[in-house]
Amino acid sequence: MTTSIAIERVETSKITAVDFDNLPFGSVYSDHMLTCDFVNGKWQAPKIEPFAPISLAPSAKIFHYGQSIFEGMKAYKDADNNIMLFRPLDNCKRLNKSAQRLVIPEIPEEIFMDGLKALLEVDSDWIPTNDGSSLYIRPFMFASGNGFHASPADAYKFIICTAPSGAYFGGKVKVLIEEKYARAANGGVGYAKAGGNYAAQFYPTQLAIEKGFNQVIWTDDNTHQFIEEAGAMNIFVRINDTLITSPTSDRILDGITRKSILQIAEDNGIETEVRKISVGEVVEAAKNGSLKEMFGAGTAAVISPIAGFGHKEDEFELPVLEKPYATILKKMITDIQTNKAEDPYGWRV
Ligand code: PMP
Repeated sequence: MTTSIAIERVETSKITAVDFDNLPFGSVYSDHMLTCDFVNGKWQAPKIEPFAPISLAPSAKIFHYGQSIFEGMKAYKDADNNIMLFRPLDNCKRLNKSAQRLVIPEIPEEIFMDGLKALLEVDSDWIPTNDGSSLYIRPFMFASGNGFHASPADAYKFIICTAPSGAYFGGKVKVLIEEKYARAANGGVGYAKAGGNYAAQFYPTQLAIEKGFNQVIWTDDNTHQFIEEAGAMNIFVRINDTLITSPTSDRILDGITRKSILQIAEDNGIETEVRKISVGEVVEAAKNGSLKEMFGAGTAAVISPIAGFGHKEDEFELPVLEKPYATILKKMITDIQTNKAEDPYGWRV
């Protein structure tokens, strides 16, 4: 089924004011957005309209109870002007998994996929072609229905906005293993991309920044003995030549980059393990020299190498390698994403 989508275009595009050679991450927005309302028990027809502020009553439940979820994905354009997405249906499915947990009505896959494709066609000039740049895509849904009663709203909004973006992180990333705060708990919402998960990360991250780190390595909420995620990324640790990542759970987001990296690594002869990683093991490996690499994996940065980490009062530096897995794997995955390499998996859309 193809979704019918009304398109209202901007009178004047803002694109001439954008410096595509100096793009920050996620703070310049394309001309249009896709919007779709859930009212009277069903999703209405989506539309594309100029990117602009939206109006909500102060009693909208998003403001009070945080019923809000999102996704993050990217579009690329190749030399022949083909627009490419990476495993987009997985984002749609994960959004709906988050929706279920937050009692937000699921968005039909056709609205998500047809709406996204139509939006990218309308704003195709906004997709950067510089190396490392991409169009960051932010689909989100929230409670627009009103009431101070603490219960699910009766109306919701689904929006997709896009932002041409340069690379996410720069420089050496130093992380702190967090031993007091937790981002998620068993039975909680860690596996969902709920807005509140991120708000709750800000304070511990701010404390880590004050101590001279860039990011927090989250440990399990119960014992703080096992490392789980790196900021808003999944974490990989290389001990000797084995690449290890934590299993997904109630507490860990099922990252699309994470599972793609695991697949590519396995298919290219890198030994992988999906298992719990203890803080003690990482510290011991750092001390005896078997800890070769640590990196975060996620849509925004793809792979973000970690240069060093703090644990209690100690700080450890990671070695500088000639051919780190991080560089090899990042090239392999981005080559697939940007149509510079064959895609044996059918991930590129
Ligand atoms: N963990 C968290 C908490 C995240 O917010 C993200 C970003 N979506 C990831 C991991 C990485 O997921 P993905 O590779 O799908 O972007």
